[in-house]
Amino acid sequence: MIVLKFGGTSVGTADSLANVKKIVQGLGQDAVVVVSALGGLTDRLIATARMAAAGDLNYIPECELMAQRHYDIVQAVVPEERREYTLTRIQPVLRELRRLYDGVNLIADLPEKTLAQIVSTGERMSSVIVADMLGATHLDSLGIIRTEKWFGKDIAATDLTSGLIREALQPADGLTFPVVMGGFISSDRQTGEITNLGRGGSDYTAALVAAAMDADVLQIWTDVDGFLTCDPRIVPQARVIDSMSFVESMDLCTFGAKVVYPPTIYPVFHKNIPIRILNTHRPEAPGTLISDAHSSHPRTVTGLSALKDEALVTLRGTLATDSTAISTRCFNALARKGMTLHMVARSEAAGSFAFAIAAADMPCAVKLLKEEFAPEFVDAEMEVLEVVTDLTTIAVVGDNVKNLSGGISRLKDILEMHGLTVRAYSDRTSETALSLVVAALDTTRALTALHRELFESL
Ligand code: ADP
Ligand code: ASP
Ligand code: MG
Repeated sequence: MIVLKFGGTSVGTADSLANVKKIVQGLGQDAVVVVSALGGLTDRLIATARMAAAGDLNYIPECELMAQRHYDIVQAVVPEERREYTLTRIQPVLRELRRLYDGVNLIADLPEKTLAQIVSTGERMSSVIVADMLGATHLDSLGIIRTEKWFGKDIAATDLTSGLIREALQPADGLTFPVVMGGFISSDRQTGEITNLGRGGSDYTAALVAAAMDADVLQIWTDVDGFLTCDPRIVPQARVIDSMSFVESMDLCTFGAKVVYPPTIYPVFHKNIPIRILNTHRPEAPGTLISDAHSSHPRTVTGLSALKDEALVTLRGTLATDSTAISTRCFNALARKGMTLHMVARSEAAGSFAFAIAAADMPCAVKLLKEEFAPEFVDAEMEVLEVVTDLTTIAVVGDNVKNLSGGISRLKDILEMHGLTVRAYSDRTSETALSLVVAALDTTRALTALHRELFESL
C-alpha cells in the first residue's frame, strides 16, 4: 500500500486536480489519498470568521464566494453522473458553515472550538470532491483521527488513531481502493468535538495513516520539485536535495522548512517508511527521498532553514558557569509545560548563557524559569539579563555537519563579513545542526550569504 498526500497547492484549481487524477489513476496499487482544503481556503475561512466576529457583514459575500468556488470545482472535475451526488454531500457542509458564521456574528465572539468547526469544512468538502472526481471510497477522518489535550493543545491520540485507521482500512467486505480522506481534521477522543492537528497538519494525517498501515512509501505531493536546500521564497537559488536522512529532515522541518509539517516525520521514521516529496505540477521530476539510508554524498551541509518570530533570553549568574546542568534544568522546566527551547548558547558576556524560544512562548518561559530558579534568584545567584524579540534562529543541517570545515565560527564569520550581527550561536543544538540567531530583518541576507557560501561556491 502507498499513501499519497496532496496539499492545498495541489488541489486548488481544476487543472491541478486533473494532475492529481492522472497521478492516482497511474498508480497500479492500493492507495490512500489524503487531501488538504482547496489552496488558500483555510486562511480564508479563518479571516472570514474574524470578520463575522468583528461585526463586519462582508462575511456574507465572502462565505458565498467560498461556496461558489466549491460549486465551480465540482462542475469542472466531477464526472456528470456523480455531480448531483457530490452536491448533496457538500451542500449540508456549506449550510453548516453559513450557520456557524451567523452564530459567530451574533455573539460577536470566536471561541476556539467554533473556529475548529469552521476550518474543518475545508477538508470535509475537498475530500468529498476528490473522492467523487476519482470515483473512490471516501472515509470520514473525523471519526478516525482522534486527538487528546496536552497543555491546552490538541495532539493526536496515536495508539487509538492507529487502531481506528487499521479497522477502517482493513481489506474487508466492500472496501475498495483508492480511499480518500481529508487531512488536518480530527475529533477529540473524549468529547467528540471537532479539532485539528495544527496548520499544515495534513502531512501528519498522511504519516499517521502510512505508519498504521505499514505503507511502502509516503508520498507528499506539493508545488515544488522536492525538499530544497533553503526556502525558495527567500533564496531563489535553492536547489533540490535528491535524498536525505530522516534525522536531517526532522531538523530542517523543526527549524522552519515549511515543506513538511514537523510532527510528520516521526511516525514514519519509527516504522522506517520512506517519504518522497514530489511536485504535482511536474510529476516526472524525481523529487526528494527521505529515508534511513545515510547519504552517499561526502557533503557536510544538507540544507538551511529558519525559524522566525523568535526571542532570545539571556540569563546570568554564578551558576551559569555549569552550563550543562543549567541547560538541563531549563530544558526540563519548560518541557514539563510543553515548550521547546530551540537553542541554548553560551553568551559572549562572562558567566551567562542564552536560549532561543518562540516569541509567543517567551513570557510563560521566563515565568517558569523564575520558578525553577527561585532560590537562586533570591540569592542573586541568577538573573534574567536580557530578553530580545524580533529574531530568527537559522539552522545549518547535515548528518556530517560536525565535520564542516571551520565549524560554527566559519558560519559566524560569513555573516559578520556581510555586516550582520550574530546574537547567539551554538554547535550543540542537535547532533546534526548548527544554529545562529540574527535579527528578523536580517533573515534574507543571512540565508542568502550562507547559501552562497555553502552551496553555490562549489
Ligand atoms: P502544500 O499546500 O503542498 O502543503 P506548503 O505551502 O505547505 O504546500 O509547502 C510547500 C511550500 O514550502 C513550497 O511552495 C515552498 O515555497 C515552501 N518551502 C519552504 N522551505 C522549503 C524547502 N526547504 N524546500 C521546499 N519547499 C520549501
Ligand atoms: N488546510 C490546512 C492548512 O492550511 C492543513 C494543510 O493544508 O495541511 O493549514
Ligand atoms: Mg503544507
